[in-house]
Amino acid sequence: MTSGIRFKRVLLKVSGEALMGSQGFGIDVTVVDRIAGDIREARELGADISVVIGGGNIFRGVAVASKGGDRVTGDHMGMLATVINALALRTSLLKIGVESIVLSAIAMPEICESFSQRDALAHAAAGRVVIFAGGTGNPFFTTDSAAALRAAEMGAEALFKGTQVDGIYTADPKTDPTAVRFEQLTHSEVLQRGLAVMDVAAVALARENHIPIVVFSIHEKGEFARILSGTGRATIVTD
Ligand code: UDP
Repeated sequence: MTSGIRFKRVLLKVSGEALMGSQGFGIDVTVVDRIAGDIREARELGADISVVIGGGNIFRGVAVASKGGDRVTGDHMGMLATVINALALRTSLLKIGVESIVLSAIAMPEICESFSQRDALAHAAAGRVVIFAGGTGNPFFTTDSAAALRAAEMGAEALFKGTQVDGIYTADPKTDPTAVRFEQLTHSEVLQRGLAVMDVAAVALARENHIPIVVFSIHEKGEFARILSGTGRATIVTD
């Protein structure tokens, strides 16, 4: 059933942190299973879903750079972390009968397929959930930028950014009780106000390609599908 969904083709950004649950590090399989279930539910509404996955639950390049190490090597380690997460998500999707494919921006043919836009579109057309690993494949970028990039390449109608809270706030609502939530913003407002929801490059790329960003809580079970159906809480960033 596709009637009534707000966006048919969607790119979901899942941060690495979302996968670690309350552990503080690594992968909590129960959480990955729940996110896989949310993706299945959204697909059952008729949406085509692809996913960009982060790596911050395992490694971030800045951790090396901040201790005087080589940033590029650190970023390579971070990109490898995203591949581990992508394999975890594929495993969870497989368990519930959702066909998916991992496409990595860095070739590692023994482990997964390599990214090309052509193949990504073909897998999506065949009904698979395409999981993009390896970020952009370049150091000094983030998986948020990869999400905006892949959203543009896939012709996504919206980029769903799963976060710790239910939208964009004036400040971090977890630490600042006076923080106020936005219902709607423009890409330019996000950039001008310096709202720390995605990095500047990601927001600018989404703006240039007229891709709405839907910021919602990845921790609310079923919220992804509810927002696609027109209910649920999110901040929507549009032109
Ligand atoms: N990374 C990179 N290039 C990219 C995407 C990611 O070098 O295009 C590296 C970078 O070191 C980053 C790490 O991979 O810190 C994990 O990605 P990110 O921090 O975006 O993950 P998230 O915050 O979404 O968990």
